[in-house]
Amino acid sequence: MTKTHIYISPACSGHDTGRYHPESGVRLRAIKNALTGLPTSRQLAFVQISPSVPRVLLARVHSDAYVYELESMAQKVSQPIFLDPDTLLMKGTMLAAFAAAGICVQAVKDVLAGKVENAFCLSRPPGHHARRNLAMGFCFFNNIAIAAEQALLAQKKVAIVDIDVHHGNGTEEWAKGKEGQVDFYSLHNKTIWPATGTKDEGNITNVLLEAGGGEKTLRAAFKDNILTKLKQSRPDLILISAGFDAHKEDYAGGNLSYTTMDYGWMTAQLRHVAEECCAGRMVSILEGGYNPDSLAQSVAMHVQSLQGEWQEDEGINTKNEFSPPSMQEIREHTINRQKLGLPSGLYIEMLERRLGVFEDIETYPAWMKELWKSNQKCLGNWLQETLRRADKGQYLLARQALHYVYSVVNTIKASPFEEVTRTAKEIPGLSKFCDPDEPLAPEHYEKANFRGAKALAHAIQSARAEL
Ligand SMILES: [Zn+2]
Repeated sequence: MTKTHIYISPACSGHDTGRYHPESGVRLRAIKNALTGLPTSRQLAFVQISPSVPRVLLARVHSDAYVYELESMAQKVSQPIFLDPDTLLMKGTMLAAFAAAGICVQAVKDVLAGKVENAFCLSRPPGHHARRNLAMGFCFFNNIAIAAEQALLAQKKVAIVDIDVHHGNGTEEWAKGKEGQVDFYSLHNKTIWPATGTKDEGNITNVLLEAGGGEKTLRAAFKDNILTKLKQSRPDLILISAGFDAHKEDYAGGNLSYTTMDYGWMTAQLRHVAEECCAGRMVSILEGGYNPDSLAQSVAMHVQSLQGEWQEDEGINTKNEFSPPSMQEIREHTINRQKLGLPSGLYIEMLERRLGVFEDIETYPAWMKELWKSNQKCLGNWLQETLRRADKGQYLLARQALHYVYSVVNTIKASPFEEVTRTAKEIPGLSKFCDPDEPLAPEHYEKANFRGAKALAHAIQSARAEL
């Protein structure tokens, strides 16, 4: 059995996004519990360190100006701030980001030096969306690109395989043009954010999947597009951007209906190639995965597979019945987030997606209506807060607010749609986001009642009065 080393850093918990943000510290705690409970846990070595990433490597991936800007922003903030609708920055973020990249670099060093057979890094915040000059999608520093730079300094040829449900846009941007040094493969849902990674180019391979394809499609695509090329290119090291948000129970992810077994299978395939090409040298780096249960089980399966102990028919029980959160939990959530001055939107969107209300409006559960009735004030407050941000030029948030209005109106079958749109259009700075080609057209609201939309319109109007 291979001795897999697990790299962790206490500093990663300093990026405290709160328990209701999808990318929260709960993720790492769930993973650690699952790993210590593995039948193969005795053959795991936990390496707990807090190295800061070497600046010379950081500078090969991100501009000095960008790093300086993030550091000075983090020093100044007294409360967490949103850099975009997803990405929260706070005082502890930078130490966590330096440590997250730092453990990945250390793991690559140790694997290349032969001290460690293979490794999995519990890095947080994640990294594969971070661009040269832009933090996005929960990511600040591109951990895997920085770790790969360590291998490039040692004149090694690197393959990066990104299995997160989202395209690793930051990694692709960095890898472009590095033919002969880096090959980048990304397997992702073609219909979701960030909507990049649609074509192959030189050393870049993008494998596009659609929801509902199932195990056969995944495995065929993986073999044909990734394994074959990997075997031909014979890298010295395989790095994995290990995101687990394509899992069928990851409701905040992009849903490609992967099972826990699929993660074991993909890892086993990569392990075979690594054994064939590069003496088994692999470093896997955590990216997404937002349902703590399915994340922990999938990581456990992934790590067992890195150890060479994965078998198709065995493994962890993957039955994980989803039960919607109780009204009490939702109320607690909204109150806590308001106390922190944070919007509730992300979480509510996540709940909506969990329940599939956009897929089948007829099965819309009664408790969601109850949520709407009891939380109009909270939703209104969120909208007001968002519009205030819009006034400060954060248009991305404004656009999200409008989408949110439309989706709530759609969900509760309220109307008139025109009333909400018209009110929104009158708000300075917001009108340009009222897109006439918005996919939700007024005819969707024929049978609707007026109450919900009136409440929303009222919230918009009060927000406008305050602008
Ligand atoms: Zn993702």
